[in-house]
Order: sequence, then structure tokens, then C-alpha cells
Amino acid sequence: MDVWNSKIQGIMDGHVHMDTIAEEASLLDICEATGITTMALVSIQDPAAGAGLPQSLYMKARYPERFFVFAGLNHATQLSGGRVKALSLAEQVDMFVELGCDGIKMIEGKPTSRQRMDIPVTDPYFAEYWARVEEVGLPIVWHVNDPEEFWNPERIPGWAKERNWGYGPDDVQKESLYAEVDEVLARHPKLKITFAHFYFLSADLERAGRFFDMHPTARFDLAPGVEMLYNLSRDPDASRAFFIKYADRIVFGTDLFSRLSVAQARARAGIVFRWLESEDTFHVPEEADFLLGPPEDGTIRGMALPVEVLTRIYRDNFIRLAGSVPCALNVSLAVEECRRLAAMAEVFSGTPAAETEAARVAMQLTSEECNE
Ligand SMILES: [Zn+2]
Repeated sequence: MDVWNSKIQGIMDGHVHMDTIAEEASLLDICEATGITTMALVSIQDPAAGAGLPQSLYMKARYPERFFVFAGLNHATQLSGGRVKALSLAEQVDMFVELGCDGIKMIEGKPTSRQRMDIPVTDPYFAEYWARVEEVGLPIVWHVNDPEEFWNPERIPGWAKERNWGYGPDDVQKESLYAEVDEVLARHPKLKITFAHFYFLSADLERAGRFFDMHPTARFDLAPGVEMLYNLSRDPDASRAFFIKYADRIVFGTDLFSRLSVAQARARAGIVFRWLESEDTFHVPEEADFLLGPPEDGTIRGMALPVEVLTRIYRDNFIRLAGSVPCALNVSLAVEECRRLAAMAEVFSGTPAAETEAARVAMQLTSEECNE
């Protein structure tokens, strides 16, 4: 088996997904097996299901030193045509702070998200929100764009096509999405944004460098997008030089999710470790999850980064954004918020409130409170 462990201790993963509290033990097993010490749970909200944020709050409550929570925005009011009353986006920011969330996760900027809600981030709908986040200083992990090949029916990978991640001329285009981000950053230059998946600029390091130079508070994370590893393996020396030059701007991430088996999780984290640390030429291992595609899709060449660069990427850069220890969860407010999300889901989609993840989490958190 093709297992690769990091030589660095105390790795902080800035990009992990928690699918459901039924997978609590699985995620702990994944931490153990990969040697990742803390995880930022990036929590995209699904207001129709009453899920997304609650399961992450639960993990924070149970393991307060291990899990950071980056809360996604709730667009229920907009998406339900006003039937559901959610807080305004700016009010949500204040609530996340009060809850003890460590940051915000955004998916608004992935073309699929735009298909669901066609509001550019430069729209007045987001105006107060951006001002509020900038003022409060919460870090954001933001998924903007997708790999170029998703707009090209001939080049889109099979695993992406199966998920309907292929886009056409009617979808928002890659350059428009980048232009919207530039506009937001011009209006709010103090925003602390980590763009997920290397901002999908791994095929153009010159442009990535220009972006960093223009936006001193921006960072990229390393969550695969396996194309990122393939693109940056074409010229490992140039990539290595880029990573050394911008060592303060790159945040480790895996996109691990709790549903993965331990073998899949080790494969996923392992390719990133090995790519950063070794000089090896290798392929994605057979046991890797579906989203990484098959081994024959590409070749990865390690960058053998120096230890002082590795520790910044694995830990220090995240600490500068979110601190070394997660914020403390306000449990009673978390219970209240979960109950509200459960009730909103019922109005929104007819899902009985009691059957939502939010309701299950509210119940767990109250029974634990009683146990204390
Ligand atoms: Zn992700």
C-alpha cells in the first residue's frame, strides 16, 4: 500500500467537511490515521435540509481543541422567495461571532452555486455583509471558480461530469467570477480571504503571483482539486520557487470529508504531504476517493520544500488567520440556532423539523448539557 505520512508534527488542516454526526468516530479515526492535529470544518449550509452548520458545531462542542468551524451563509430567505425568514447576511456574521465560530466558508463563486442563486457577490445583496466581515475581521475560506476544463465538454474529467459540474456558455464564465472578486477586494481591501483550491490558478503561476502581489491579505489553500497537483507538477522547480516566495500565503488543506474510509483519507492527505515534502514522482494511489480520479490521470512531482516553509504552510499561516486554538462554542446559542435551522427547513422544504441534522444536534447538545 502506498501510505505516506508527514514528517511534521502539529498539522492544522484548513479545509475539511463534516457530513453528519453519525460520522463522528470516522472523522476522529481520520485525524488519527493522517496525523492531522486540528481541522477547520468548512460548513456549507443546506437550508432545505437543515444541515451543514449543525454537525460542525457539534464537533466543536465535543472536541473543543480539535475543531475550528467556518460557517457558511444561509440564503434561505432569498432561495425560498421570502417564505423563510433568516437573518440578514450581516446579522449572520454577528451571530457566527457570538456562537464562537472561527471563520466563514463561502461557496458563492462556484458556478454550481451561481446556478442555484444567480446573484453576483458584487450585488447590493452582499454589500452590508462584506462591510461587516471586513470590520469584524473574521477569516473566510472561499471557493471561487472551478478548473478550466469544467467549461470544456471534451476535457472535463469523468468524476466531475457525473456530478454535473460541467458548464456551458449559459453559465457564469471563469473571468467574470475573477472580476467580481477583484471588485469585492477593491472595495474591501482588509478582507482576510483564503481562496480554496489555489484559486484555480495552478495552471498560471505568473497570474497567481500577480494576484498575491495585488492583494496582500489574500491566501490560497491547497485542498485538491487534483488538477492543482498535476498543473504544479509540470515544472516542479518553478512551483517550488513560487511556494518559497509566497510561503506566508499558502494554507494547508485536504478537502477531507467524514464519509471517507481511513484508507481513502490517508490517500488524500498523503498525496498532498508527499507532493510538498518529497522529491518523488508518483501517481494518485488506487485506493484514493472518486473525486481524485484514477491514477492514470496524471503524474505528481514532489517539491521537497524546506522545513521552515512546510511549518508555515502546515500551521503558522493558519494560526495567523484563526488562532492556535479554536474559539469556545456558546453551547446554548448553538442549540437555539440549530432549533431555528430545523424549523426553517420544515417551512422551506417540508422536511419535518425533527428529522433534520439540526434537530439531532440540538438534542445531543442539550443532553450533554444535562450530563454536565
Ligand atoms: Zn471543500
